[in-house]
Amino acid sequence: MPELPEVETVRRGLSALIIDKKITGVQLIYPKIIQGDPTEFQTAMTGRRFLKIDRRGKYLLFRLSEGLTMVSHLRMEGKYSVKSQTEDLDKHTHVVFDLDDGRQLRYNDVRKFGRMQLVKTGTEDQLPSLKKLGPEPTPETFDAKEFYQTLQQKKKVIKTALLDQTIVAGLGNIYVDETLWMTKIHPETKCNQITMEQAQELHDNIIKELNRAIEAHGTTVFTFAAVNDAIGSFQNELQVYGHKGEPCSRCQTPIEKIVVGQRGTHFCPNCQKPVTAE
Ligand SMILES: [Zn+2]
Repeated sequence: MPELPEVETVRRGLSALIIDKKITGVQLIYPKIIQGDPTEFQTAMTGRRFLKIDRRGKYLLFRLSEGLTMVSHLRMEGKYSVKSQTEDLDKHTHVVFDLDDGRQLRYNDVRKFGRMQLVKTGTEDQLPSLKKLGPEPTPETFDAKEFYQTLQQKKKVIKTALLDQTIVAGLGNIYVDETLWMTKIHPETKCNQITMEQAQELHDNIIKELNRAIEAHGTTVFTFAAVNDAIGSFQNELQVYGHKGEPCSRCQTPIEKIVVGQRGTHFCPNCQKPVTAE
């Protein structure tokens, strides 16, 4: 599943391709991708221009002329590409936006879990899905003390808590495993057992690691690729995710894979010791 660095990579790639382009038509091959009335979506999008693309957590916010925003979540395997109208559609293409320069913005999704929704610009934060999002993981918006205080109020395990997007937005399975390894925190540590020092360090590592991943254009795993199949390179930097059985780069202990909250979880059993009960 694309996480914040991958979605940011898509945002940047698409911005270079579609900004200022006018939508001359919308083809809904699989209308269930659209939340709300598909016909209204088609009518409202047609004739508008793409002004800008913003991002909130893992959501893309396509800013359109006349005060509309298309909120798009790629979920498991959603992908955008920009192709000439003359190129054949892929069998997994579900939504096509015809552009006024003879190209098309195409949305492909093998699993069909991705969703698009049209809202008035400025009201997107009121959508239930966006309303619950925690701060963006930047030094300006993500406060270490607040992070620690939030963790202190939670009994669930840190791996699960970081995945749910309400404490901090944008992390998924890969970057949670990586940042917990960096901070030497066992993934099954209860949130309220994390010390202030650990919370501070985890906070710093989350910001640092996501930025490094954005610089590398994200991680290319499974079928995820950025716009027009551009390849990110951050998979080469991963220390634990996908490295089961291989030696930890810090201590040479083999990386283990366990299941935490139904998610495959990679960690070093030596560097990331469980907190012992008092
Ligand atoms: Zn280790």
